[in-house]
Amino acid sequence: MSKQIRIGKTDLYVNPIGLGTNAIGGHNLFPNLSEDTGRVVLRTALEEGINFWDTAFIYGPERSEELIGEILKDTGKRENVVLATKGAHKFIDGKVVLDNSPDFLKSAVESSLKRLQTDYIDLFYIHFPDEDTPKDEAVGALKELRDAGKIKAIGVSNFSFEQLIEANKDGYVDVLQSEYNLFKREAEQDLLPYTAENNISFIPYFPLASGLLGGKYNKDSTFEDGRAKSHLFQGQAFVSNLQKVEEVRAIANRKNADVADVVLAWYLTRHSIDVLIPGAKKPEQVTRNLKALEVELTMDEIAEISAIFA
Ligand code: NAP
Repeated sequence: MSKQIRIGKTDLYVNPIGLGTNAIGGHNLFPNLSEDTGRVVLRTALEEGINFWDTAFIYGPERSEELIGEILKDTGKRENVVLATKGAHKFIDGKVVLDNSPDFLKSAVESSLKRLQTDYIDLFYIHFPDEDTPKDEAVGALKELRDAGKIKAIGVSNFSFEQLIEANKDGYVDVLQSEYNLFKREAEQDLLPYTAENNISFIPYFPLASGLLGGKYNKDSTFEDGRAKSHLFQGQAFVSNLQKVEEVRAIANRKNADVADVVLAWYLTRHSIDVLIPGAKKPEQVTRNLKALEVELTMDEIAEISAIFA
């Protein structure tokens, strides 16, 4: 088993390479993926000792959590996995509405517990901020849930710098999950320094830029899911992004590694990033992403990669 890393100030210890599961049962996000493939991805993660799984109510919706609950029940391996899930979305007349009110968050945790077939959640995040609820009040509700043993650690996700400061007024926030990757580095301006100073673990989502930093695409690649609309995958920006990936490939080749290995290893050199949650649509990707732990980057290489994406 690989080295277990502590997530920030929590009592959670995990393999630094976790698993993002928005593609597992996430038919609302990736319509063409079969649930059986999702089950195999989860089983592979268990076999490989990838024990930090990231899910959410809205992936599916509900289905990602349900499949995870099913696999953990069938294998009897609940205790082997540190489970992170998120809530804030609800449906009103078929429309998605965000709610961070204490009552809603408490009910969201109860429903996630049922779908995950467990009596505790290791890390529960407020998935997105709503417009109305004071953020320290929302986090206060999670503190009550933590005191009651329903959750073990408190996270917020997609919060702006100001919202994070408000959320962490009492020092209860353990984890911030935000979009961050080599193409999207705004978090370096305020969120990353704040999390480093306040002992909050920063977990970047889209670490592989939805596959673009996986190194397997070229200018003729086409996309039928949400990536078709992403600016990263369009026109001249796509071509120039692919060029940057090729520059990383030169470094990866020197180290006998893949592009994705080097990219993931680079994040783990950042202060306050303890763990990663790359997504996987195939079992081979789950296994492959562990190779990042074998890559050691020199200070020069860390700077070189940073400069490519400056
Ligand atoms: P990602 O990690 O940036 O990219 C994952 C994709 O990269 C995979 O689906 C696969 O796509 C490709 N890939 C994976 N391993 C690879 C490898 N070794 N080599 C080459 N390609 C590889 O994007 P993501 O899965 O959307 O995001 C990660 C996780 O973050 C999610 O699963 C979810 O848990 C979380 N998330 C959270 C939020 C939030 O609001 N908090 C938002 C988004 C995501 P292809 O095979 O199709 O290229």
